[in-house]
Amino acid sequence: MFVDKAKITVKAGNGGNGAVSFHREKYINAGGPDGGDGGKGGDIVFVVDDNMSTLVDFRYKRKFVAPNGQDGGSNRCSGKGAEDLVIRVPRGTLLRDSETGRLLADISGDHPYIIAKGGRGGAGNQHFATPTRQIPRFAKPGVVGEGYELTLELKLLADVGLVGFPNVGKSTLISVVSAAKPKIANYHFTTLSPVLGVVKLDEQKSFVMADIPGLIEGASEGVGLGHEFLRHVDRCRLIIHVVDVSGIEGRDPIEDFHAINRELKSFSEELAERPQIVAGNKCDMASAEQVEAFRSFIEGQGLKFFDISAATTKGTKQLVDEVGKLLDTLPPITEYEPEPMSLEELELKKEDRRFEIEIEDGIYYIDAPFLEPVLSTINMEDYESLQYFQRVLRFSGIIDKLEEMGIKEGDTVDIFGLQFDFVK
Ligand code: GDP
Ligand code: MG
Repeated sequence: MFVDKAKITVKAGNGGNGAVSFHREKYINAGGPDGGDGGKGGDIVFVVDDNMSTLVDFRYKRKFVAPNGQDGGSNRCSGKGAEDLVIRVPRGTLLRDSETGRLLADISGDHPYIIAKGGRGGAGNQHFATPTRQIPRFAKPGVVGEGYELTLELKLLADVGLVGFPNVGKSTLISVVSAAKPKIANYHFTTLSPVLGVVKLDEQKSFVMADIPGLIEGASEGVGLGHEFLRHVDRCRLIIHVVDVSGIEGRDPIEDFHAINRELKSFSEELAERPQIVAGNKCDMASAEQVEAFRSFIEGQGLKFFDISAATTKGTKQLVDEVGKLLDTLPPITEYEPEPMSLEELELKKEDRRFEIEIEDGIYYIDAPFLEPVLSTINMEDYESLQYFQRVLRFSGIIDKLEEMGIKEGDTVDIFGLQFDFVK
C-alpha cells in the first residue's frame, strides 16, 4: 500500500535539572556549593533514508520522544546529555506543524534536520554563590524540550514526471529506459503508487524519472484516481506527456492530450506551465498517417514530439537523450524553504499565559508552562535579569494572584523547583 501522508507527534528531551549540593569532607564543615549542571535533552532529528519510498511505517508508530538529559550531581558532576532521536523518512518528505500548517522542513538533502530542540540543562548551584550569598539553596531547572504534532507529506523528487491517461504505456516506458520494474498490465490504474527510476544516459549522466498513476478527467477535483498523485509531479523539472497515438483503446489522442492538460491546469497553473514534451506511444500499432497527423498537431502547439513504441523500445533512446539535453538547461529540482512563524501564531503563543498556583506547607508552587523558556534565560546573579523576571511575573498576573492568595513578604515561592523569597 502506498502511504504518502502521516501524522505523528514528536517531543524533544527535557534538559536535566541543576543540582543543589554542598561540598562535604571530613573535618571541613560548611563546604561551598558544588551542585553540577543538568545535561541537554535529546533533539528530534530527521534524516533521508533512500531505502524508504513510502510513509507506511508511520501508520504504526506515531509517537517519538527523545530522552531527557540527566540531572546534575554533587561534587560539580554534570548530568550526561541525552542522545538525539533520529527519524528516517523517504527523500522529499515535507514536515508541517499540524496546528498551523506551517512548513517546518523539506527533508530532501543529505544533512540531518533538527526539528525539535532538546532543552538545555539547568545550572547547578555551584554557579550561584556570591560574596553575599554563600549558600545558594537553588539551582536552575532544565528547559523543556520542544514538541510538535507533525504532518508528514511525501512529495517525490524526480527530474521528470510521466503523465497521461491510464494504459497509454507509462509504466512500460519507465521499465525500458530505467531499472524500475513497475507492474504493467492491460487494464486501467495498474500503477497504484508512483515509481522512481534512474535513467542512465552515459557513465556520468543520469536523471530520475517518476511514473505517476494515470490521470483521468476530473482527477484534479478528486474524482477517481490521480488527483492524489499529482503533487508528486509538482517538483518535476520536465513533464513527459505520454499519449496513445494508435487509438486502439477507442480514444482520440488529441482529446486525450487536451484532457490531461486541463487536469494539470486545474491542479496548478504553475504545473501546467512546466516544460512538457510529448511522447506518442504505441506507434507500432498506429498507421503512419495517424502518427504524422498527431505530430503536426503537437508541433503546432509549439511542443516537441517523439514517436515511440515503449513495448519494442523503438524511439525511446532518442526521447531520453533529448530529455537529458533539455534538463541541462532547466533549473534544479525545487526544494521548499521553511516558512517563518506568522505574526498571528506569535500572538497566539504570547496569549498562552495560563498558570496555576498551589500552596503546600506554606510554599507557593507556580506552574506556568510559558515561563519555562523565560526562566531559562534568567541569570539569578544579575540584578537586571532578576528585575526583568519580576516584570514578567507582574505582567502575566502572577504577582497579583499571589497577593490575592495572601502571600506575605518572605514567603517562599517555587517555580519549576527554583525557590526564592517573595519581596514586594
Ligand atoms: P500505463 O497505465 O500508462 O502505465 O500503461 P502500461 O505501461 O501498464 O501499458 C498498458 C498496456 O499497453 C500494456 O498491456 C502494455 O503492454 C501495452 N503497451 C505499452 N506500450 C506499448 C507499445 O508501445 N505498443 C503496444 N502495442 N502496446 C504497448
Ligand atoms: Mg502504469
